[in-house]
Amino acid sequence: MTLDTPLSELPIIKPQQYNKLAHLGITTISDLFLHFPSRYEDYSQTLPLSEAAPGMQATFSGTLTAFSVQRSFKQRMLLTNATLTDDSGSIRLIWFNQKFVGQVLAQGMEIRVSGKVTEDRHGLVISSPAFERMSRDATHTARLVPIYPETLGLTSKYLRYLIALLFKKFEAIPDPLPEELLEKLHLPSLHRALFDIHFPKNEEVSLVARKRFAFDEMFLLQLKALEMRALYQSAHATPIPPRPSDTQSFKASLPFTLTRAQDAATTSILSDLALDRPMNRLLNGDVGSGKTAVAALALHAVSLSGHQSALLAPTEVLARQHFESLSRLFAHTHFQIALYTKSYQLLDGEKVSKKTLLSALAAGIPSIVIGTHALLEDKVSFRSLALVVVDEQHRFGVSQRAKLQEESFRSDDGRLESVPHFLAMTATPIPRTLSLACFGNLDISLLNEMPKNRKPIITKVARNHADRTKIEDFIRQEIKKGRQAFIIFPLVETSLALKDVKAAVAEHETLEKKIFPDLRIGLIHGKMKSQEKEAMMKAFQERSFDILVATSVVEVGIDIPNASVIVIEEADRFGLSQLHQFRGRVGRGDHQSYCFLIPGEHASLENARLEALEKSADGFHIAETDLALRGPGSFFGTRQSGFPDVAMESLTNLKLISLARTEAETLLAADPSLERHPLLRQSLARFTARVHME
Ligand code: ADP
Ligand code: MG
Repeated sequence: MTLDTPLSELPIIKPQQYNKLAHLGITTISDLFLHFPSRYEDYSQTLPLSEAAPGMQATFSGTLTAFSVQRSFKQRMLLTNATLTDDSGSIRLIWFNQKFVGQVLAQGMEIRVSGKVTEDRHGLVISSPAFERMSRDATHTARLVPIYPETLGLTSKYLRYLIALLFKKFEAIPDPLPEELLEKLHLPSLHRALFDIHFPKNEEVSLVARKRFAFDEMFLLQLKALEMRALYQSAHATPIPPRPSDTQSFKASLPFTLTRAQDAATTSILSDLALDRPMNRLLNGDVGSGKTAVAALALHAVSLSGHQSALLAPTEVLARQHFESLSRLFAHTHFQIALYTKSYQLLDGEKVSKKTLLSALAAGIPSIVIGTHALLEDKVSFRSLALVVVDEQHRFGVSQRAKLQEESFRSDDGRLESVPHFLAMTATPIPRTLSLACFGNLDISLLNEMPKNRKPIITKVARNHADRTKIEDFIRQEIKKGRQAFIIFPLVETSLALKDVKAAVAEHETLEKKIFPDLRIGLIHGKMKSQEKEAMMKAFQERSFDILVATSVVEVGIDIPNASVIVIEEADRFGLSQLHQFRGRVGRGDHQSYCFLIPGEHASLENARLEALEKSADGFHIAETDLALRGPGSFFGTRQSGFPDVAMESLTNLKLISLARTEAETLLAADPSLERHPLLRQSLARFTARVHME
């Protein structure tokens, strides 16, 4: 039996239980051992029965001096009654509808029981205590008893039983971490840590075990990051020689002066591009910090050198918007910009067929193509693709991202030969603490400075119903002044889209008929076809509507400089960073802009959290607050990150991460392909399959 032995091969696991385990993703012994308890019940205190008192949670041992199983009143319930007696006294035990108790216990047996003492009219009693024979090792009683996140009819008791039983079969569990490393860091062996996390002698050892598992995750994360980095650095990329005076005149042609942060990011990017190994950089910036302009400078440099670039956006609407703004910025140049989406292709300002555009790209005609993931799916080939920029990269699915970054550009034998330079842009600032853990493979440029003269958006949280009326009046006033407004009914990624669409359609109707009968109100939601969405965005941009009601996150990443008000309903359902992102939809023009957050009916008490947005306009600060309040999970969207709970909080533990980084560097320096650490290699492969890395 090894850790990889499938549970289906073990006769002690019945098919019914096997199915339940498999449902939890537990199919091998290793999966089972790595299924950690979420907490422990403390039954470590064993007391004489004379000390039992109501409310006490403890373990007692003694002899069953009475034992009976009866059907209760009208035969409805199976009642097991017993008396446990030791030298100091006795206590009643009672179980309801637990047939097996009568099958395994009998009068005269010596047992241990753990449970909570209560009192009824007959005196002290323990209801449904955990129990085991005195002759057995303490698994369910007389210790810190592990409680597993129970699901699908598998009880903690069963998991405890199974883990204890199987664990005994292993003399030693092979450890992927080198012994010297464990010694150096004072971490327990895998064998020890597994035992201590399931069956800790005391709280302290369980914490040490958790620390070991957290280190494992951070260590693998850093190994992976370093490996990806090395892979990238070993690959070849087209060097883009700097042309400072051309870059300077392109900068001068922009309708604004770059901020210091934009300038610094541009400098880093241009010097990365000059090398013959691929850039792999993240542009981490706040909403409205001007990432597009920085990207434009990179695209410009590549175009100058005669090579091609692709800019990928998560939606057609955004791709279209980038196309338009870049077309403006490049208007005075001779570079051709194309647009490639599923339903729409533009080349040289004309709508063309996919086929035409594909052959133009292959011939190297457009210097820049802006597109959605259709660009990936259609396996577009370029004459000479030197740069890929991905906007709002977190919105791309994990596999799409991986594809973007490597696979689609891999050579046939799987190695990265010549790869394009890669620039990812975030939509939401990522806290530094988190970026260290999650973007260890990327170089990072921060845009932590807003363009000057930007008026901060005035933000208010609605406190009561009267506020809602005030907000409605306010919207009306702004619209009278010629402005426009967004009303967002945000859609949680996992919720049933259809239900939310219905809600938005209904809200739209209410707004149109009852609240703003005098105004023109548009509606956009995720179930609309992309042409419909586009037409709606265009109509809103052209002011055919005063208010745009929108459901989903996807469609709002859009620039409408005339919009000065955004109202977010059910605001409490969202992370602060996401709300900050929504808020960034206004304040893009010269007008003073406003954001109103309306908590859902059920959650008016949650305003304290939302107030952080009233106080701060700094996306990085808000992101740190969000991280502190909701943990790293909030930065991975609703999709699971793949990290086990033990590791989640470590993602922000700078000390642990730097330690893991240093140790990973040392190990890889000595054994770059982990040839001498085969178990670690395996762990890393599993880790890669499980965890979603940027
Ligand atoms: P984001 O970082 O959110 O993608 P954008 O690139 O869309 O931001 O820029 C937001 C707005 O700010 C755009 O209208 C852009 O033209 C403008 N902008 C960008 N950089 C500057 C700057 N340095 N000074 C003034 N306005 C700028
Ligand atoms: Mg942007």
